[in-house]
Amino acid sequence: MYYFYMDTPATLQKAIATFSDPEKAFQAAVEFRWPGGNVTCPRCGGAKHSFVKTRRIWFCYDCKKQFTVKVGTVMEDSPIGLDKWMTAFWMICNCKNGISSYELAKNLGIRQNSAWFMLHRIREAMKDDPTFKLGGGEEGGPVEVDETFVSPNPRKMHNSRRLKLKKGENAGAKAVVMGMLDRDARKVRAKVVPNVTRETLQNEILNQIQGGSKVYTDGYPAYDRLAAKQFIHETVNHVNEYVRGQVHTQGIENFWSLLKRTLRGTYVAVEPFHLDAYVDEQVFRYNNRATKDNKLTDADRFALIMSQVGGKRLTYAKLTGKGTDTVCHPEAGTGQEEPF
Ligand SMILES: [Zn+2]
Repeated sequence: MYYFYMDTPATLQKAIATFSDPEKAFQAAVEFRWPGGNVTCPRCGGAKHSFVKTRRIWFCYDCKKQFTVKVGTVMEDSPIGLDKWMTAFWMICNCKNGISSYELAKNLGIRQNSAWFMLHRIREAMKDDPTFKLGGGEEGGPVEVDETFVSPNPRKMHNSRRLKLKKGENAGAKAVVMGMLDRDARKVRAKVVPNVTRETLQNEILNQIQGGSKVYTDGYPAYDRLAAKQFIHETVNHVNEYVRGQVHTQGIENFWSLLKRTLRGTYVAVEPFHLDAYVDEQVFRYNNRATKDNKLTDADRFALIMSQVGGKRLTYAKLTGKGTDTVCHPEAGTGQEEPF
């Protein structure tokens, strides 16, 4: 369960109006981060500190260091103000097909590369790391399992990559995403997997789904003999049937069409290296969508994502796989953090 900030605005327009006031943006960020005002040092956990109101900075008496509301969150070291951050959080979790870095840059008045880095940091906060298995249990139901191929769109590729593709090099390789939908819990898990071998797919099923659960797949041979691994496995043969009573994979296929719409429509070019992050984003929106018995609003999704920003970090070096963050890069924002 997450803490619901009492004055969370209800619409994007209200969110922008509220968070354009630096003091309100700051107060909201503090409430989400430390519900009830129990501010603790993100470095040492110390609860003894003084607050410098004019600079919106705390000084920790234990480790003798300063911290801001951004330290220890995906926003750490960012030169971008909280007003823009909060608006970006709102947009990415509530725009059904996501938002491209170009659109975000235009809307916030920042550079496209900064928006791109920002969106990836927000995806890091959206990432779910569940500790329980799908299916079988008290609330879990049958689990639909399927995999899909995501191929790069040559028209939207970076020139260098398109050139490689023309030369027949391995730049057009498809990536495989494997997904599982727990039908009763209405939750999806999805991730990029290296291939579609029996070993890969069945290991994922063993890791993610409780033994004894019903598992529904199509007739792909790599799912054969799942029953021997203690699952009640049923298949639909897509050559001549798509649904056999309860046995179908249409829920997870619906998720694939949402994912592909996001990838095709909104994002200019997704490098395979980053595909997992886009999958995480779509999973967040899907698992927190409004349903008949769970009427989540835009404000709820915003509150949820804001409650997940802590304890996570994504540095520019880690994201791009190159350089270090000690190199001064405007997007890495080294040492130039705006505290609010
Ligand atoms: Zn401290």
